[in-house]
Amino acid sequence: MKQINSSRDLAVNGAEPAFSEPLHVGRPTVGDRELFLHYTEEILDRQWLTNNGPLVQELEQRIAEYHNVSHCVAMCSGTVSLEIAIRALQLQGEVIIPSYTFVATAHALHWQAIMPVFADIDPQTHNLDPDAVRRMITPRTSGIIGVHLWGRPAPVEALQQIADEHNLELMFDAAHAFGSTHDGIKIGNFGRCEVLSFHATKFFHTLEGGAVLTNDDELAEAIRLMRNFGFCGLDNVIHPGTNGKMNEISAAMGLANLQSIENVIEHNRRVYHAYRNALDGVTSVRLLEYDENEKNNYQYIVLEVEDDSVVKRDEMVAALQAENILARRYFWPGCQRIKPYLDLYPDAGRFLVNSEKVSNRVMVMPTGPAMDERKVDAVISVIRTLTAGR
Ligand SMILES: *Cc1c(COP(=O)(O)O)cnc(C)c1O
Repeated sequence: MKQINSSRDLAVNGAEPAFSEPLHVGRPTVGDRELFLHYTEEILDRQWLTNNGPLVQELEQRIAEYHNVSHCVAMCSGTVSLEIAIRALQLQGEVIIPSYTFVATAHALHWQAIMPVFADIDPQTHNLDPDAVRRMITPRTSGIIGVHLWGRPAPVEALQQIADEHNLELMFDAAHAFGSTHDGIKIGNFGRCEVLSFHATKFFHTLEGGAVLTNDDELAEAIRLMRNFGFCGLDNVIHPGTNGKMNEISAAMGLANLQSIENVIEHNRRVYHAYRNALDGVTSVRLLEYDENEKNNYQYIVLEVEDDSVVKRDEMVAALQAENILARRYFWPGCQRIKPYLDLYPDAGRFLVNSEKVSNRVMVMPTGPAMDERKVDAVISVIRTLTAGR
């Protein structure tokens, strides 16, 4: 780590980068390695590799308990979990979602010939704006999928009220929100169901994987059938379905990661506070804050580069990357600006003013086990130097 005193010391000007090793966003954490290897030996001895194996069942039970929810149905990915949940709720026609989200939220609908209709977000929270949702309702609307972006819960009560008034289904893409609470209630208990992603870059992962959380017994049963080709017993197919099953090695990774999850949260929280402290007095960027009265996983350190900053967002990302600080734009340029949605709704940007603004401002900073207070200070000192030198 190099001391940065002036913009002439920065690698953009041809000097050595501030960090000799790159700092990443979303570098996977590996929990209890011994435990993972122990489970793996067991799996190989047992030769029960997939098809609702004992480790998948244990993982489902532990994740359901962790979220105080009746059912956790584990799957091979978050996207397939979304697709199956959407089908189990019999969504059709149009479904309202934010455009400022990972493209899988939109694709999970489009893949099933359902039109995702984008509603604008609240620029403060980055989550769906209930008034914008109301404006997008048509006679074809069958549901709303809220996204708990950055792990911060969407406005669940306001969205539930809209859903009730208009007789719409409500579910959530909770891919970022493992362990988050709203009013002290864990994610998984809102809407008809909520979908987690366990992809390797997520806060909690199973290499690849995902799950649907729900308190609805019948819905859980339908989702379980759909996950496994509609099989009920050995030769009895009673439902349409697909292959959404999680394998045992993924479940082993999940159980090993669950073992150290509180340590990961504690580390993330320390890193978040380090960023917050280091940013004191920096006016060019604003940190997206987490509610300390709720549980969060603090996985994402989200900065918004202010419109009046002398160094613009893309310039800042490039300058940081030159220092081996691999900060990233995120969900840029928004679903409305990528195919096929760009062709379907060429004018959507006009209605998605806040989504466009936010996607042009956001920069997500390195986190994970490789980060500590000292590195955070050094990262922010690069931002200070960049903006002071101009
Ligand atoms: C990661 C993610 C998904 C997709 O999950 P996969 O497990 O990668 O299929 C869906 N929605 C959001 C918001 C995500 O961040």
